[in-house]
Amino acid sequence: DRAPAKPARKTPMASDEITITHPGRVVFPNDGITKQDVADYYKAVMPWFLPPVADRPMPMLRCPGGIGEHCFFQKHTMAGLHHVGTAKLKEETGAQAVYLYPKDEAGLLELVQFGAIEFHPWGSHVKTPDKADRVIFDLDPGDNVAWKRVIAAARMVRGFLKQLGLESFVRTTGGKGLHVVVPLAPAAKWETVRTFARGFAEAMAEAHPLEFVATASKKVRGGKIYLDYLRNGRGATAVASYSLRARAGAPVAVPVRWDDLGKLKSGADFTIHTVPKRLARQKKDPWEGIDAVKQGLDEVMEQLGL
Ligand code: ATP
Ligand code: MN
Ligand code: MN
Repeated sequence: DRAPAKPARKTPMASDEITITHPGRVVFPNDGITKQDVADYYKAVMPWFLPPVADRPMPMLRCPGGIGEHCFFQKHTMAGLHHVGTAKLKEETGAQAVYLYPKDEAGLLELVQFGAIEFHPWGSHVKTPDKADRVIFDLDPGDNVAWKRVIAAARMVRGFLKQLGLESFVRTTGGKGLHVVVPLAPAAKWETVRTFARGFAEAMAEAHPLEFVATASKKVRGGKIYLDYLRNGRGATAVASYSLRARAGAPVAVPVRWDDLGKLKSGADFTIHTVPKRLARQKKDPWEGIDAVKQGLDEVMEQLGL
């Protein structure tokens, strides 16, 4: 006799294959947020978090003992991972190394199981590591820069980009500043992207010397915003949209509409507690249309004399 058919099971999420060990371990000590809370957060944001980072080399910040203990940036794959992709890529030194990249939600949850808190993708995909599909301007306010000035600065960056015919998008970092992101389609060579980013930042600093600096030297930053263009190179990273940050309060990097930027009180407005609810009631992606933007740098390079 055959056993009666089992009741149909709900289709399991791919991430259900991943067992989170030590689910009750406190990862954010000041906030009582556990490893399970972190896994639940990433599951909740997965439909928004995963697509833009899938198939990109993605270093991560791991804090296996929680953010109060030793955290470290890890670019390369390691034993024990079964759900993430691996790609042999050339390092800046010329040597080859095996990078990890997420393909699906199980892979991302597996990295969370290994203590990942923050995710930092490249600006290119594993199949085309030498071509960038975005430029990132990382606005880093120095001491004594009021938040309103950071917002104004991001709008100035957007304005100048617009003058050059380039559309841009903005996100909080979960930290002190903002990222302005310029999508490129078709993707461009890193060499071009790096030259453009530097030339653009230097032009901004020259045009608005009281607001921006384009040199990394800490000495000249006081009271100004460092327009960090160094996120734009092969192997350079920027925090992923919807990544948690390993900082008190568990803030999140979040894309926002330009029109909503003025509502923010800081770069760390959004947290593990507020983002899933925000996404659940969000009708439109704040970066709606970004994948349809077709723009490149060739004419812009000429306009800037680069
Ligand atoms: P904030 O708004 O507080 O500046 P942020 O994420 O922009 O937050 P930055 O220090 O400006 O922080 O760094 C920008 C990006 O550069 C990071 O998101 C990260 O991807 C990358 N980065 C910074 N420091 C390192 C590092 N030590 N190793 C590798 N990548 C780094
Ligand atoms: Mn920054
Ligand atoms: Mn920076």
